[in-house]
Order: sequence, then structure tokens, then C-alpha cells
Amino acid sequence: MSIDLNGRLALVTGASRGIGYFLSLELAKRGAHVIAVARTVGGLEELDDEIRALGGSATLVPLDLTDMAGIDRLGGSIHERWGKLDILVANAGILGTITPIGHVEAKTFERVMTVNVTGTWRLIRSVDPLLRQSDAGRAILLSSGVAHSARAFWAPYAASKAAVEVMARSWAEETRQMKLRINSVNPGATRTAMRAQAMPGEDPDTLPHPRDVAEKIVALADPAMDVTGQLFDVREDRFLSYRLPG
Ligand code: NDP
Repeated sequence: MSIDLNGRLALVTGASRGIGYFLSLELAKRGAHVIAVARTVGGLEELDDEIRALGGSATLVPLDLTDMAGIDRLGGSIHERWGKLDILVANAGILGTITPIGHVEAKTFERVMTVNVTGTWRLIRSVDPLLRQSDAGRAILLSSGVAHSARAFWAPYAASKAAVEVMARSWAEETRQMKLRINSVNPGATRTAMRAQAMPGEDPDTLPHPRDVAEKIVALADPAMDVTGQLFDVREDRFLSYRLPG
């Protein structure tokens, strides 16, 4: 709770429920103004109520991340109103269907890639100049353990998360000499709608609550945090080093 985000501006995608919802609350609790993005207005309004009850503030942005022009406009609006962005949390994502790779429908594959990869890239492109205006720009991109492990039937989602991590690492290298710090996060299995879709037979009460997961992830928004281009593992509560040649 010692992280001070007063006066900081944070953009969180997928803020209507799950990890993004609780991460928005954690950021607001520490003083950040949260720009909350998702399609479900009811979820965003509930978040807004909770943030106000904490004495914080939010701007709600109902937006489908397949709307690339809308993502561009969002960056433009933030530029006009604030001229900078301090924290980006690229959290929105979809699972698609869990099925053998040869049975994945083309429209499912394309949608997973559009939301998880193209939408994330477009958002990065839209806010990169704004994060560079911050004196401590932070970007947190949600990945998954399946980006590294070999899990049958999860190919589109796993490929999309591997792509997100590689984009994060490239972006971190491009900005290493600047004040930006860009990292991916593996939240681990978390009690959310996505996890219930993936594992319908699982007892959700055996999983960590997204509030507890968000409490750990918020450390990556700390202006004093100096790591970039790495993967933060929530379960282990530490960064895992990439061992890359060259
Ligand atoms: P949820 O399904 O609970 O929430 C997903 C969020 O993404 C919702 O707020 C949803 O909002 C938003 N979203 C989905 N599609 C779109 C879209 N087209 N446009 C805008 N927003 C969209 O997921 P989790 O909270 O579980 O997951 C959060 C992140 O963590 C994801 O990236 C996921 O891959 C990752 N993760 C989760 C794990 C888990 O066990 N839960 C494990 C590993 C990684 P709306 O529908 O209102 O648009």
C-alpha cells in the first residue's frame, strides 16, 4: 500500500470484471485516476461506484478493442485532455475455444488474435507517445503461463499470449534508455469468468481471488520500480528472467 500514485493517470483495459476490475481499484486506492476500458457499461459503472466510494476518480470508456480506429481516438483524447499517460495496463483478453488446433474455427482464431494481439499492439501504438511524456511511464501487459508451457488444445490463446510477451520485450528494448518500464505478467490461475470458461469443472474457491492477484500486480506501476522487459510471476511474487541468446 506504500506505492503513491497521486496525480498519476492509469489506463486499464478489461476493467469491467476480473483482474482488470480489481487492478483498477488498487490503482485508484493509491491515488491514480483510472481510465477504465471495456465493452460492458454495467461493469464499468459498478467499478466507478466503488472507486468513488474510496474517494478516487475514474473516466469510463466503453470500447470494443476490435475497433482499431476507436483505440486510435482514445489515444488522441488522452493527449488532448491530459497530454500524457503514466500507467498502461493491457489486461483485456479472450480465451476463444479450447479445442484441438485442427478443429479451431477460423473466426475464433482471428478473434483471439484481434483482441489479444492486434488490439494490444494498436493500444501500444496509440499511447506510446503519451507514456514517453510521463516522468515514470509504466506498462503492464497480461500474459499467461501457457505462453511458455506446452498445453494441448489451447493453441490460439497460447500463441496470442506469447505474441504479447514478445511485443512487450521489443518495446522494452526500444525504451530501455528512457523512463519507461515495460513488463509482462503471468497472473496464474485466478477466480474469474475466463478461468471458469477454461475449467468449468474446477471449484473456483480453490483459486486466488482477483483482488489478491491485483494487489501483487500493482507493484509494477510503482514509479520507483526499475525493472523492464521481464515477466512478473504473481504466484512466485517475483520477476522471472528471460534467458535469451544475444
Ligand atoms: P475476464 O474474462 O474475467 O475479463 C476479461 C476482460 O477483458 C473483461 O473486462 C472484458 O470486458 C474485457 N474484454 C474482453 N474482450 C474485449 C473486447 N473485445 N474489447 C474490450 N474489452 C474486452 O478475464 P480475466 O480477468 O481472467 O483475465 C484478465 C487477463 O489475465 C487476460 O488477459 C487473461 O488472458 C489473463 N490471464 C487470466 C488468468 C486467469 O486464470 N483468470 C490466467 C492467466 C492469464 P467486456 O466483456 O466488458 O468487454
